[in-house]
Amino acid sequence: MGAARDAPDPIAHWIVLLDAAERMVASAPCAPGALVAADAAFAVLLAHEHALPPEQRYQARLTLWQRNHAGEQLPDRHVQWGECTCPACHRARLRARVERREAVWQAQLRILQQQKQRLQRKDQHTHD
Ligand SMILES: [Zn+2]
Repeated sequence: MGAARDAPDPIAHWIVLLDAAERMVASAPCAPGALVAADAAFAVLLAHEHALPPEQRYQARLTLWQRNHAGEQLPDRHVQWGECTCPACHRARLRARVERREAVWQAQLRILQQQKQRLQRKDQHTHD
């Protein structure tokens, strides 16, 4: 299998895979293990999505939106349509968000410590 982005129409292919996976979920019997096939279909979809560049992911979701919501305004989340939703990329985004939050928190902590040191120094001078 070549790279997904080199498929004749990678965007149409993404939509075909998504429709197939959703049909499998919708038609799955209510029985244990009934979603195994659908899980496999979603794994194929996500592998394809992962191989697409962000512009093509965006274009695929935009095409799907225009098909299913013709004439409606794009939802706010459309700004994230270029993101890959595979588990590895999802985890990486969560990790990056936590690291960014930690970096902000560390910076605030450093500022507080510097302020505290300055106050202590001032306090020492006034008591000398
Ligand atoms: Zn991915």
